[in-house]
Amino acid sequence: MNNRLYGNLIFELSQPGRKGYSLPKNRFGDYHVPQELRRQEDAALPECDEMTVVRHYTNLSANNFGVDNGFYPLGSCTMKYNPKLNEEMAALPQFANLHPLQPAETTKGAEAVCTLLCRALCELTGLHAFTLKPFAGAHGELTGLMVIKRYHESRSDDKRRLVIVPDSAHGTNPASAAVCGLDIVEVKSLSDGTVDLESLQTLLSQQGENIAAMMMTNPNTLGLFERQIPAIEKLVHDCGGLMYYDGANLNPMLGACRPGDMGFDVMHINLHKTFSTPHGGGGPGAGPVGVREGLEQFFPEVSPYHGNFAVAIRAYAYILSLGREHIKEVGPLATLNANYIKEQLKDVYELPIDGLCKHEFVFDGLKDKSTGVTTMDVAKRLLDYGYHAPTIYFPLLFHESLMIEPTENESLETISEFIQVMRQIALEAKTDPELVKSAPHNTPIGRVDDVLAAKHPMVTYRQLKEA
Ligand SMILES: *Cc1c(COP(=O)(O)O)cnc(C)c1O
Repeated sequence: MNNRLYGNLIFELSQPGRKGYSLPKNRFGDYHVPQELRRQEDAALPECDEMTVVRHYTNLSANNFGVDNGFYPLGSCTMKYNPKLNEEMAALPQFANLHPLQPAETTKGAEAVCTLLCRALCELTGLHAFTLKPFAGAHGELTGLMVIKRYHESRSDDKRRLVIVPDSAHGTNPASAAVCGLDIVEVKSLSDGTVDLESLQTLLSQQGENIAAMMMTNPNTLGLFERQIPAIEKLVHDCGGLMYYDGANLNPMLGACRPGDMGFDVMHINLHKTFSTPHGGGGPGAGPVGVREGLEQFFPEVSPYHGNFAVAIRAYAYILSLGREHIKEVGPLATLNANYIKEQLKDVYELPIDGLCKHEFVFDGLKDKSTGVTTMDVAKRLLDYGYHAPTIYFPLLFHESLMIEPTENESLETISEFIQVMRQIALEAKTDPELVKSAPHNTPIGRVDDVLAAKHPMVTYRQLKEA
C-alpha cells in the first residue's frame, strides 16, 4: 500500500483546524498557571480528523512483525506465542486497577498470585525461594550476583571478586557482573561449544580463592546441553565459589531436569521468554531470581512492590493452563522441533556441530560457499517470504552464524513450510544468487546500510529531511 495515509508522518497529514476529539466539560473550575510557566506559543501538535488518525496508525501497525502474524525463529531469545487467555487474566480489573499503596488487607488475591507463582517456580527449578522483583533478565542477573556478593561478604570473604563467564555466554552476563562491581574472567569453549574443563581447572588452581561465582547458560548458546555440569559444579564449589544459572530460556529444561538438582545456587528466569508475555521492542519483562536454601536473606530490594506484577499474572496463568502434566512436554517439544528443522536442512546449510541439540541450534551459513551468498543475504531473503529472520552473526564462534529456535508451540505445518522456504533460498543461492543478495524485495524498505545506521543514526524526522 502506498497512499497518503501510509507513507507520511502524522504531522504531514495535519490540516489547520481539523480535530478528532472533544474534551469533557471542565468540572473543576479554572486553575491559573503562573504566567512565567506558560508557553509562549502553541505546541506544534498535528491537527487531524479521527479517520485520518485511525487509518494512519492502523497502516503503520501493519508494518510490525510479531509472533502474532508470523513465524519468528529467533535463537537465543525465545520469541513464542503468548496465549490470549493470559492477557485476559492480566487485564482483569481486579488486578489491573490495584494501587500498590492500597491497604494490604485489600490485596490478598494479588499477594496469593505472587506466592503461588514463586511456589511453582521453586517446584520447576528445584530451588528454595524466589523474588519477583527484577524487571528483566539482565536485572535478574544483577540481583542474583548481588545475592552472591552479599553472601561472600557475610562471611567476610571479601577477596572473591571474580566471576567466571564462558566465552559463548549471552552478552548480559559479563555486563551484569561489571555493573555489580565484580571482575570478569572468561573461560574458553571446546570446538563443540561446551565449557573447556581443562581451562577451567587451570583457572581455578590459580584464582580459586578469588572466585565469587561461575555463570552458566544451559543448554548453552549453541543449544547444547553441558554434560560436564557435575564436574564443573564440584570444581567451583570446592574452591568456595557459587554456581549461577542463566535460565532466561528455561523452556528446554521443563520436564527434563532442574537447575537446583544440578547443583546451581542462584538463577534467574525470564518470565517473558519462558512463561509468555509479549516482549518485542524491549519490554515489559520480569526476571525472578531463585536461590537455594540459606541464601534468601540476601535478596536485595531492586524494585518497589512486586516488580512487574502483570507479567507475573501472565506467567502464573500460563503455568496453570499447562498444568503439571503438560508443562513436562514443553522441553521435549522444543527439542523435537529444533532437531527436526536441523535434520531437514543440514544437507544444504553448514552444521558445524552435529548431534542432538536442545531448543535451538546454529548453522554456519550455506553449505555451498561458492555462491557468495551470506547469512545476511539468507536472513534478508526470509523477510520476502514473510518470516522474521533467525538470530544472525551470534554466537561469534562461527563466521556465518545463523541461529534458529522454533519454540515448543509451533505446529508441524508451520515448521514444514519454513523448512521448504529455507531450502528454496538455498536453491536460489545457486540458480540466481543476485536475487538473494539484493533481498528483501517485498518489504516497504529495502536493504538498509547497517553501518551507516549505527554510525550516523538519524533519530528525528528533521535530521532525515536535512540529510
Ligand atoms: C534474553 C536473555 C538474557 C537477558 O534478558 P533481558 O530480559 O533481555 O534482560 C540473558 N541471558 C540469556 C541467555 C538470554 O537469552
